[in-house]
Amino acid sequence: MDNNKICHKLDTDELSKKFDKFLEYETPQKMTWCGGCGNYGILNALEYSFVLENIQPNQVLMCFDVGCNGNASDKIRCNTLHGLHGRVISLASGAALANTHMKVVATAGDGATFSEGINHLVHAIRNDYPITFIHHDNQNYGLTTGQASATTKKGFPMNASPDGVLGDPINPVDLVLSLNPSFVARTFSGDIEHMTSTFREALNHKGFSFVEVLQACPTYNKATPQEWYYDRIKYIENLKGYDNTDIWQARKIAADLEKDIYLGVIYKNKNSVDFMSRIESRKTVKTTLVEEVMIYHLDKFLDELS
Ligand code: SF4
Repeated sequence: MDNNKICHKLDTDELSKKFDKFLEYETPQKMTWCGGCGNYGILNALEYSFVLENIQPNQVLMCFDVGCNGNASDKIRCNTLHGLHGRVISLASGAALANTHMKVVATAGDGATFSEGINHLVHAIRNDYPITFIHHDNQNYGLTTGQASATTKKGFPMNASPDGVLGDPINPVDLVLSLNPSFVARTFSGDIEHMTSTFREALNHKGFSFVEVLQACPTYNKATPQEWYYDRIKYIENLKGYDNTDIWQARKIAADLEKDIYLGVIYKNKNSVDFMSRIESRKTVKTTLVEEVMIYHLDKFLDELS
């Protein structure tokens, strides 16, 4: 079978019926990304996935890191939080634990995720915090004019490293798979249908869902333009016998980032139990932490102190 065959269909009928719901996510803010940037498609696909999952703007918290992708923070109408560089996973995880009724989605680039914030990523995976994390991987620090990041190809000249990066790049999916995650997917900013269906699956996962988006940055990343990906991407749905609950099969297909780059839900841990479900003392509690703070009477506490 042709592994390049695209097998996702965006339900355009359903989407057009819900077009007014899509418009609820729109803001009048002017887009500031470069022409051809992958961020446009990623933001659209995220909004499509919310609409198709019947998630209202007031039911979602979008958390943004610093970077070109973070400039979407005023381009989507829902609850938003724009934090410090590399810290978005901890902010989003805290928010999700405090208000379990809120769907929490965090986004960050390759710099924030695999350099400044890699510690937060490791512990969010280990604890299986209940958030969807979208990793924008354009292989450079675009906002600061194209410096090399931890995922830049070895030897490729970038601003501030004109002779090329000396170290091998991190393979994000391979590294995440090594941490016993509960959900790992890879998609591509040039394929809105695939992004939408992948985001929808990630939103329905109960624990930490890691979604790698291979993203074109036509301004600064000349090593892997959109066409480079079109020549290499393949879909795991077309991979006969592939079992995405088998970690070793997942690691095998995740390793290749040069020839056959597989997209899809690469791994789902069927034994995972998300963080909240593991806290014995919260199992019978009906309120969220946010509600409990709101109903706590300070007077009683002050009386005890006096
Ligand atoms: Fe997009 Fe790259 Fe321009 Fe940033 S620098 S807006 S990532 S194309």
